Amino acid sequence: MSQPKILLLGPPGAGKGTQSSNLVSEFGVEHVTTGDALRSNKEMDISDLGLEYDTPGEYMDRGELVPDEVVNAIVEKALTSADGFVLDGYPRNLDQAEELESMTELDVIVSLSVSEAELVDRLTGRRVCSDCGENYHVEFDQPEKAGVCDECGGELIQREDDQEKAVRNRLEVFAENTEPVIDYYSDRDAFVEIDGEQSLDDVWNDLQAAVESAI
Ligand code: ADP
Ligand code: ADP
Ligand code: ZN
Repeated sequence: MSQPKILLLGPPGAGKGTQSSNLVSEFGVEHVTTGDALRSNKEMDISDLGLEYDTPGEYMDRGELVPDEVVNAIVEKALTSADGFVLDGYPRNLDQAEELESMTELDVIVSLSVSEAELVDRLTGRRVCSDCGENYHVEFDQPEKAGVCDECGGELIQREDDQEKAVRNRLEVFAENTEPVIDYYSDRDAFVEIDGEQSLDDVWNDLQAAVESAI
């Protein structure tokens, strides 16, 4: 069959980006992530839409959602050019979930569940590669050399929205907007819930098994 179409759901810090890298290596799918796409376009001028702020970055640094019209267009473009993919960071509200229905069919929908206390520790300790976007953690997933990306040698930085205040806001935005998206998918045959609080390797074992049984 063609490459799998995988949706990874879960709160900020659940491990979606980290596990997406594994899926890319193992299954050769494309990583479609609205977070990375928006970070590369933080200064894009969206003032003609007449919304609250004039760039995606102003929403992001506050931990708020970037408006649907901006995000939907990014995803639509990325999915039409991908064969198989792992979609990470979208949909984040019910309107986006409905939009996604009109773009593609999904083979497996995985929800990674993690408690709030653990999410705060993960996000405030997260470091990301400023060049390739790979995720690390100061305690739980250290690079070989402190501050340097194992994959590309890039500099590791802390994201603006991984400061504690924005983290709290993002978790509230998740509870209000994105939890309903998980409920929306939860009765589908393709839906699988995985305990995201396990070790990196155990989460990966469960995820790999879920994708293999779906393809
Ligand atoms: P998301 O993309 O869902 O926001 P990430 O993959 O960036 O999450 O992970 C958030 C942080 O938690 C990163 O610093 C990552 O290294 C760390 N992390 C991811 N999975 C685990 C895990 N199973 N156990 C401990 N830390 C993890
Ligand atoms: P995390 O790795 O913590 O889950 P992301 O990198 O996915 O965070 O997203 C970072 C920020 O980008 C979000 O807080 C939000 O401002 C914006 N963003 C990403 N995806 C979406 C989306 N689908 N809809 C609206 N905003 C989004
Ligand atoms: Zn890198």
